[in-house]
Amino acid sequence: MAQYEGSCHCGRVAYSVEASLDQTITCNCSYCQRRGSILTFAPATAFTLTKGEDALTEYRFNSQKIQHLFCETCGVESFARGAMPDGTPTVAVNVRCLAGVEPTELQPTQYDGRSR
Ligand SMILES: [Zn+2]
Repeated sequence: MAQYEGSCHCGRVAYSVEASLDQTITCNCSYCQRRGSILTFAPATAFTLTKGEDALTEYRFNSQKIQHLFCETCGVESFARGAMPDGTPTVAVNVRCLAGVEPTELQPTQYDGRSR
C-alpha cells in the first residue's frame, strides 16, 4: 500500500488515496473499452476527495451500480464509486490519473467485463 495523489486533467477534481498497484485491471466492457483506463480498487475509507465534489458529473449504465464520476470541465473520469459484493463502499481509481505512476510499468489483468 502507498499513498497517491490523483486528479482530473484541469485540476478541479483532486484526491488522495491509499492503494496498491500490484493488482490493477483493464476491462473490455463497452464503457471501459472506450475509456482505456487502468483501474485499482480501494475501500472508500482509504479515499479522500480533497476538492471538486461540485465539479463531478455522474454517469451510470447497465446495472447502475457504479457511479462513474467525471469532471464537468475537462471530462476526465479520475475515479468511480461503487460497492463490493458485501456492500462495502469502494472506489475504482483510474491509475492513469495518479501522480508519479508510469502506466507502462504496470501489468494489469484483463477483466472480461464484456461477458458479464
Ligand atoms: Zn477537470
